[in-house]
Amino acid sequence: MIPDIDSVDIAHLASGDTLAIQVYKFRGATPGKKAYLQANLHGAELSGNAVIYQLIQFLSELDDSQLQGEIWLVPTCNPFATNQRSHHYASGRYNPYTGTDWNRIFWDYEKDLKNQSQPSIADFAKSQLHLNYQQIQNNFRQQLIRRFQDLKQSESKASGLPFEDHYRYQLQSLCLDANYVLDLHSSTNQSFDYLYCFQGREASAKYFLLNTAILLDRYDGDAFDEAFMKPWLSLEKQLENLGKVVKFDLEAWTIELGSGMQINPDSVYRGVRGVKNYLVSKGMLDLQRFPLIQTASKTVQFFPKSKSQKYYAKQGGMLQSRVLLGTWVTSGQLLYQLLVFNREGCLPQLVDVHSEDSGLVYDLSSNASVNQGEYILEVLTQPNPV
Ligand SMILES: [Zn+2]
Repeated sequence: MIPDIDSVDIAHLASGDTLAIQVYKFRGATPGKKAYLQANLHGAELSGNAVIYQLIQFLSELDDSQLQGEIWLVPTCNPFATNQRSHHYASGRYNPYTGTDWNRIFWDYEKDLKNQSQPSIADFAKSQLHLNYQQIQNNFRQQLIRRFQDLKQSESKASGLPFEDHYRYQLQSLCLDANYVLDLHSSTNQSFDYLYCFQGREASAKYFLLNTAILLDRYDGDAFDEAFMKPWLSLEKQLENLGKVVKFDLEAWTIELGSGMQINPDSVYRGVRGVKNYLVSKGMLDLQRFPLIQTASKTVQFFPKSKSQKYYAKQGGMLQSRVLLGTWVTSGQLLYQLLVFNREGCLPQLVDVHSEDSGLVYDLSSNASVNQGEYILEVLTQPNPV
């Protein structure tokens, strides 16, 4: 298959240069569902770009009869963040103009309806009870896309739009009609491979063949995956309240591949394997030996997002003897020591900090030097195996 390659301008700069993103569109011989993948929304999170590169190579060698539907891939989807630096370091997590996290800027249809005092999703659900699943999906999607296009048209007004709004419309316009949205991230700090899963979609998590998932029992709709899924999950809930149980064939996943500012080959391998296995399991790709044999017996440990616990420095100092990434700690176990200096004529001190709960240490700060209140590590607690 040879992809269509489209370029989408996202910012015209003072210098006259233009920032753009590039979309690789693979279309199968038969029409079907659409999968949308992007990487590097946060500037330091690089591994997803290598995953997309390998997927482009792989898909290019397939026959178009092996793909049903379309796969769209967008590497380096936020050039503004990717190119951001402070000395040698790339943070690229926040828009430097507004301080907003680049993954908290997206348009949530449900919130928009409330702000506009438009009929709610509950009202829409009531009007659709006599229709079948596919008709409801089509109607809701049309309504959502119509509203999105109205908003996007405000770009042509003389008053213009702030950059974040303009950017979010460009990115979201690529995936509003998708079935599956895969947003490839890494930790901005240090982490291992895991994914975020919406409630009601747990059964599909195992297709990615990762051991750990964070269950989104709490979200506000501003992140890319949330903005895609939240209106649909809300519609499912409203229909269920009215006695009609429907699960749309729509999913969104944020896949976290290792640490920031590096490309870990193991994370890339697991990312590529997981995406292929997922797309085969969803009936889009036809590949020999897939779904992989281990899929059927794969267990994923789900940790509720609301129960994850961040540790912040209670005083300034230097971290040492910190637990390793992936350690299962028990309550009271030593998490790290803080080497604390002072200006009061006293000797320096070594302060032990212990875990409040048992859980899995899944994210560590990159900087061992911390001021009071700065982030040190995060622990996932209260797992539910599925
Ligand atoms: Zn990220």
